[in-house]
Amino acid sequence: MKFLYSDTQDYVDPGYDFLNDRSSPGRERYWSDVYAHEFMDPAPYDGLLVSMSAVRQATGVAASKVRYSTREEQRLLRDGARRFLRYGGPRFKDAMLLGDCGAFAYVEHPVPAYAPEEVVEFYTEAGFTHGISPDHIIFDCDLANPSERAVDAAIRQRFAITLANAEVFLGLVKREGMPFEPLGPVQGWSPKSMAEAAHRLERMGYRYLAIGGLVPLKVDAIKAVLTAIRERIRPETEIHLLGFAKADSIREFTGFGITSFDSTSPLIRAFKDEKANYYSEGSDGRLEYYTAIRIPQATENARLMQGIKRGQFSAEDLLRRERRALDEVRAYDRGASSAEATLDAVMDYHQFLLRGDGTGAAQQDKALHKTAALVHRTLEHQPWKSCNCAVCRDIGVEVIIFRSSNRNKRRGMHNLAVYHRHLSKTIKEAA
Ligand SMILES: [Zn+2]
Repeated sequence: MKFLYSDTQDYVDPGYDFLNDRSSPGRERYWSDVYAHEFMDPAPYDGLLVSMSAVRQATGVAASKVRYSTREEQRLLRDGARRFLRYGGPRFKDAMLLGDCGAFAYVEHPVPAYAPEEVVEFYTEAGFTHGISPDHIIFDCDLANPSERAVDAAIRQRFAITLANAEVFLGLVKREGMPFEPLGPVQGWSPKSMAEAAHRLERMGYRYLAIGGLVPLKVDAIKAVLTAIRERIRPETEIHLLGFAKADSIREFTGFGITSFDSTSPLIRAFKDEKANYYSEGSDGRLEYYTAIRIPQATENARLMQGIKRGQFSAEDLLRRERRALDEVRAYDRGASSAEATLDAVMDYHQFLLRGDGTGAAQQDKALHKTAALVHRTLEHQPWKSCNCAVCRDIGVEVIIFRSSNRNKRRGMHNLAVYHRHLSKTIKEAA
């Protein structure tokens, strides 16, 4: 089972100065930066997924989803995705490069943002090894399996568009001499309709299916979908899970013949999750999570800046507390301070992230108490000391500090590495 990371142009400055919070001298975005697969060995994933909607602006594509500039798009097509992502050479020659359309970006639009012809050309020019036909997301998944007549016309239309596109797409890929392995996207409003879509795609000639619309579903619902699909398709037909947000529960999915899945959650949780920011391998083979220690830059944090502007906090006072929190965490790491004193310094600064949020003192005290317990656990266990990944070896305690993109993204890359190891173990155990 291959784990693909969905590329969102995640790279870090290898020479970042953590003590002074400064980029390396003369650093140029992308050119001086490194991707996780460049500085971590082994790479923390088995392949990359690139969404066309992140690269190319089109009618119906939300502007916020386009991450590539026009020049970057041109370079990606001219040099190929492998070279652009610096994901080539003997080390990565077998790594999967999957293209999809990024259907989330045009989900509000009545039809997909790209026609099959344009998509085939894009995948071919960019040199993907695998490519998914342009699909249209259906969000509802009714486990009671309502009939086609019982669902909205808009849903039926999405179902039909996805299949009609897939037929045209496959024909074009065959005519081009199969420059990449085509994947047929499965969309449906229920396990049964998804199984029907999978069956039709297989009959068209697809050998590899991409199951979509799983993002909002719970583990049991995903299992119901996979069971229904597996019952309708050949055992050798391969399956990819698109945007698999339940990747941490991969143990529950080893029996469905899944060839690959993509997820961004290990990286994203490093800075978007309330408390599970740092992944660790638990002794029982399960993943464990730690909260990162939030010490934002006082002069860059929106909430703190607001407080300063309104005259609630003094900038000087905040900077002093911020300094003290950082110093204590680093001293604690060296064995020169206690967990209690460190927690005290961290919370003394942290309280300003809550004060002034309008919820009232009692509520704020409760929230602070909760955070203090989580931070205390992180300090007690010092998980960064037992991790041997390139990030933790290189920057030590800085990885656990929630502050600026260079720390937060590195923590995300550490999470990818821990997750990738966890996945290999899980697969071995299941075999
Ligand atoms: Zn690590």
